[in-house]
Formats: sequence, C-alpha cells, structure tokens
Amino acid sequence: MRKLITTFLLIAVVGQGIASAQENDSLATAAAAAANSVKIVKTLQGAYLNSSCGNDRLGGSKMGFISADIPLAVEPATEDLYKVLLSEERYAYIPKEMVADTAVAPETMDVCPTQSVMVSNEGKYDRIRIGLPVRKPYIIRENSYPRQMVIELFGTQNNSNWMTQYTDLEAVENIEVIQGHSNITTYVINLKKATSWGYSADYEGNNLVIKIKHAPEFSLKGLVVGVDAGHGGPQSLGALGRNTKVTEKELNLSMAYMLKELLEAQGAKVVLSRSEDVAMSMTERKEKFLQNNIDLMISIHCNAGGTARGTSTYYKHIQNRELAKTILNNLLEIDGVNEFGLVGNFNFSLNAPTEYPAVLVETLFLSHPEDEAMIIKKDFQKLMMKKVTEGIKDYLKYCKKADKQ
Ligand SMILES: [Zn+2]
Repeated sequence: MRKLITTFLLIAVVGQGIASAQENDSLATAAAAAANSVKIVKTLQGAYLNSSCGNDRLGGSKMGFISADIPLAVEPATEDLYKVLLSEERYAYIPKEMVADTAVAPETMDVCPTQSVMVSNEGKYDRIRIGLPVRKPYIIRENSYPRQMVIELFGTQNNSNWMTQYTDLEAVENIEVIQGHSNITTYVINLKKATSWGYSADYEGNNLVIKIKHAPEFSLKGLVVGVDAGHGGPQSLGALGRNTKVTEKELNLSMAYMLKELLEAQGAKVVLSRSEDVAMSMTERKEKFLQNNIDLMISIHCNAGGTARGTSTYYKHIQNRELAKTILNNLLEIDGVNEFGLVGNFNFSLNAPTEYPAVLVETLFLSHPEDEAMIIKKDFQKLMMKKVTEGIKDYLKYCKKADKQ
C-alpha cells in the first residue's frame, strides 16, 4: 500500500518538470492530499470496471466484469464512482456500490510474481489456470481479428516459468506471456476457432481461472437459446405506442413467446427470462440464463425516440457482431422495414455477459406511426420473429464455414 502511494506521489511530483518552488509546494500538497484519499476496498459479487466516468443513459462504458474479493486501491472520482488505481499508468472506474471497505495487510497491495499456468480440456470448455499468491485485478478482452484473448493482470510481474498446455485442447491454440509494463503481466491466448461461444473468468482460491466454451453443434437442434422479453411488471412498461398507447412490455412478451415456438419447432431448447408480466432485474435475467447454461441470448425490445424509425440490432463485444449482423440482414428483408443500424459496444446490461453470445433486437419504433401500425399486428410480430430465427440459422451456417477454415 505504502509503496503504491509513494509511486503515485513520485510521478505526480517528478512529472511537473521545471515548475517554480511555489508550484512545487502546491503540487506536492495536492499529490499528498490525493495520496491520503487512496484507500483499499474489495470487489463484491457482480462488480465490473468502467473505462470512463461518462454517464449516458445506460451508464459509463464497461471494460468487463471482475471477480469478488479482489483488493483494489481506489480514490474518490464522482458521487457514485471510485477511480481504481490499477498501476502507475492505468486506471479504471468502479461503482462505489460494487465494493466494500476492507482491511488488508499492506503487502497484499505489493506487486507480486505470477506462478505457473495450466491449460486443459475439461470436456465442454478449455480451462486456463493462472497461479497467483494473492488476487489481483484483471482486464480480459476477446479479439476477433486475430482470434485471441488477452488477459492483463495488474500489480503482477511475470514469473510463469511453467505453462503446461495439453495436446487435446479444442479452443486454445497456445498461450504466451508478455511483460510490457513492469507491473502488468499480459497473457495472450491464441484461439483455434474463428467463432466464439463465450468464456467465464473467476478466481478459484488465488488462481485466476478462465473457461473458454467449446462450440456447440452448428444446428438449432439441441441449441439452448435464452430469449428475453424486455421490461415487465407495473414499473417497467417500456415505450408506449404513439397512437395506440400499447405497452412495449406486452409486445415484447408476445414476440418472445413467438420466437420460443419458432425455435422449439426446429429442435432448440428455449429459456425465457420472464414468462409473464412480472418485474425482473437485469441481474435476475442474467442469473437465470447462466444457470440454464444457454448457448446464446436474444433480447427483444421495441424502440422509441424522436422521428426515428426502423429496425436495429446491438452487441457489446466484437465477437458477437456477426450474429447481430445476420439477424439484422434477415429483418431488413421485410417489406416496409427501414434500417436503423447495427450498433456496437452497446452498453445494455444483457449485452455485457461474456459467457454466451448476446444480441439485443430493437424491432421497430413504437414512437413512429408507420412502425407502430406494423408492429402491433400479431402476424407482423411473427414475421419479425421468423426473421430472427433465420438470422440465428444463418449465423450457425457462418460458424460452420468459418471454423473449418
Ligand atoms: Zn425497451
């Protein structure tokens, strides 16, 4: 802890160059004040890091979820956020409600050496275990071009001198370790397959364990699809029809059932988040999907706003772009449906999980009279859900082809 603060102080003081003695004094005082406000907290279940304190409608951009019980050095940033001091050069933000005050031995915050790494095939997933003496914060990113997963472990130095990789791996081609900054260890996992079916990351003891899911059969038969009907209950009506005042929650549920029926007719197993008009938090929806081990998730909504119209699909992680694209392409085949676009890095909570591909479908605008006139009709809803089903099938075809290359 003291070492960390000292380093920040040094940077603050040295960084100001040839400032006058008086400026030196005030900068040193400010730096000391900042250092005094640094405290140690521990992450709680469900915590995530944000890359900015930007606060648009759905909150600041998320860097990713992070395990519980990781000690973090933080300082106040805004009313709701702490700034997380990941290293001298890197920081992130975390909601204050996602951490708890804690007392830890000062040496817990010291830079620590990483330990051995083991990569094994566990049947449904490849498992990567990175040994550490204490839990450290991490950021994981999955890339599509090239197919890689990059794990940055903050407050660590590479001492992984033993990285076992079994020969029967299905998802992982190999793993390499890089020490870029002297207190960030980076593991690069080169992946075998072009398409992604998700991964989880969590600490088991002090070992960081990443499970990369193997691809399912590329067919709707046996595929487990999570279908989410947006909103629900007395508080969350969603958008209202401009002319009819129909509630979005009602249309979403109607379409979720149609999509369920269409997918099941082709052999898929469907898990609905909500199956009636009840309130359900985003965390509850995500938990239900995780418990049921879904292979992919589609969330159904209707849009609203200004004079805009058209259909659109949304993803957060780049590896889910193709699924959002095949669904959008199919929806755009319907006569009278305009394009509102394919939207990436979208901050919707149900797009955030990395455990399965997730796409949000904003069918049409309830605030636009012509869109509204179409989407309130049952036949039209069913047509849209048929196109979503076709989009998923096109994605499975794409996966089959892409993974063979
Ligand atoms: Zn909505």
